[in-house]
Amino acid sequence: MIRIDLLTLFPQMCETVLKESIIGRARERGLVRINCRNIRDYTQDKHRRVDDTPYGGGGGMVMQARPIYDSYKALCQDVGCPPHLIYMTPQGKTLTQERALELSRMENIAILCGHYEGVDQRLIDEIVDEEISIGDFVLTGGELPALVLTDAITRLLPGVLAASESYENESHFSFLLEHPHYTKPDTWLGKEVPQVLLSGHHANIENWRREQSLVRTFLRRPDMLEKANLSEKDKLFLKNLARGQEP
Ligand code: SAM
Repeated sequence: MIRIDLLTLFPQMCETVLKESIIGRARERGLVRINCRNIRDYTQDKHRRVDDTPYGGGGGMVMQARPIYDSYKALCQDVGCPPHLIYMTPQGKTLTQERALELSRMENIAILCGHYEGVDQRLIDEIVDEEISIGDFVLTGGELPALVLTDAITRLLPGVLAASESYENESHFSFLLEHPHYTKPDTWLGKEVPQVLLSGHHANIENWRREQSLVRTFLRRPDMLEKANLSEKDKLFLKNLARGQEP
């Protein structure tokens, strides 16, 4: 079973999210082991400080190397080996579904949540294996990004999603955005569900969904189509779609 450890200054904030819904149930069912370790428990400072002013001046505070290092060393002892340590940072490689899937196949992952201006570079150089960003924007801390990563990994683990909710058809799995979804009632605010979905004709439904998926990806994320696994039929459909868009 994969084990994910979050190194954070706000374990309660993480636990609040991780005990809920699909991730909470996956933990209860023993499909994933997730722990939150409080970096502040490892400070030597009598005021329990874990940050200090930056060398060279400037605003903000920097997380000190030592408490993080000590919390990491204690974690390594618990795990029995050094986990793959990921530092969440806006300077990292942007998270993708592909990377989440690769990480979901690892045995031990630790995720370091930064705060303030970030963490002492020497700590990153010493123990961090990978730096991941969740997008080109800056948040106040690494807890939300770490939770995003933990969620993305956990839902890919065997048994976490019901077979009917499988992730293989979802957006980004095969470099295509997923088709739109509809549920009851048939008519809402005068808008009807596409007739084909009410037909019970499975082949037509599959065909419609595939085409919708291709249209969405073509219109919203054409860059993804280069990596998508497309049949000759898909390619012809997209060619006609592109022609229809020509002036
Ligand atoms: N001074 C840093 C910089 O310019 O790169 C930003 C620090 S940010 C205010 C504080 C912490 O939030 C970071 O150490 C990181 O852990 C987390 N963080 C903020 N935005 C993030 C993002 N887009 N992806 C991943 N982590 C992020």
